[in-house]
Amino acid sequence: MRAVTFLGDHKLELMEFPDPSPGPGEVVLDIKASGMCGSDLKFYRASGGAAALGLGKVSGPIIAGHEPCGVVAAIGSGVSERTARVGDRVMVHHYTGCGTCPHCLSGWAQMCLNGSIIYGATGHGAHAPYMKVPAHTLVPLPDALTFETGAAISCGTGTAYGALRRMNLSGRDTIAIVGQGPVGLSATQLAAAMGARVIALDVSAERLARAKAFGADVLVDPRSNDPVGAIKDATHGLGADLALDTSAAPEGRITAVRGARAWGTVCFVGEGGSVTIEVSPDMLRKQLTIIGSWTFSTVGQADCAQFIADRHINVDDLFTHRWKLDQAAEAYSLFDQQTSGKGVFLM
Ligand SMILES: [Zn+2]
Ligand SMILES: [Zn+2]
Repeated sequence: MRAVTFLGDHKLELMEFPDPSPGPGEVVLDIKASGMCGSDLKFYRASGGAAALGLGKVSGPIIAGHEPCGVVAAIGSGVSERTARVGDRVMVHHYTGCGTCPHCLSGWAQMCLNGSIIYGATGHGAHAPYMKVPAHTLVPLPDALTFETGAAISCGTGTAYGALRRMNLSGRDTIAIVGQGPVGLSATQLAAAMGARVIALDVSAERLARAKAFGADVLVDPRSNDPVGAIKDATHGLGADLALDTSAAPEGRITAVRGARAWGTVCFVGEGGSVTIEVSPDMLRKQLTIIGSWTFSTVGQADCAQFIADRHINVDDLFTHRWKLDQAAEAYSLFDQQTSGKGVFLM
């Protein structure tokens, strides 16, 4: 089969790999949709590819794509009928660990004490016709959801949902969401569906217009307004109850911190980089809670899918571009500009 591998330095290649066959405890999926996530850009851009980011040991070229969704095509020995059957529509929790440490046992294999594999980065991912995974990584895709929606839930949308749950968002809250890329826009859509009032911030007019269509009440371009002032103007001078940074930019993070009201909660989900906080005025005297949120557990992923199905949330609208695998170079070069919506490969 032909599959996408990142070479680093904004280059990728469609390489030939043997069709996978399942070993004990494994399944092979017929991939139907494989999403493009913001963190893929880190692997795409990095000099030396994913290996250079220190995520773990990588030997040989790795198939990209960590938002897998498809159908079970083959089952290895020792996989029970309750775990997987041929034809099951499934997503993949895109990590695996030792299976026995407290984090693995609670569904958080990405935090495995013995080191985890991240599919699409240190293990073969889903930008391919087929993908082999341990059966315990499978998360059922509700019948009402499309494969594209399942792909989004497998990282970007699931990450947004996980962050909103970590912040205990309620319908009484006003939340400021900094960055309206695929994760921020998902957070806007889900927070609005949970009943919250959303203040959306982004430097791209195109992304702000999409945020409005996804349920944002107030739009702020941090380049043309004072973003903290704009958040306060929209909240009776108090600041937002909750603030979520998806941008990972120092200015975005400090906007979230300073735009949150006293007793508020700030959550960081954007990966990498740093921020400088004046602890007394920005944090202590506001009694502020600052938390980090890294993706979701297997249980959280299933919960996110169920919420989206039950509330009839149209996650497919996130996708502005649908690609075939042989268009991968064009797909990533456009995504690299970070002004478009989300892309997905359909097999
Ligand atoms: Zn473990
Ligand atoms: Zn991701």
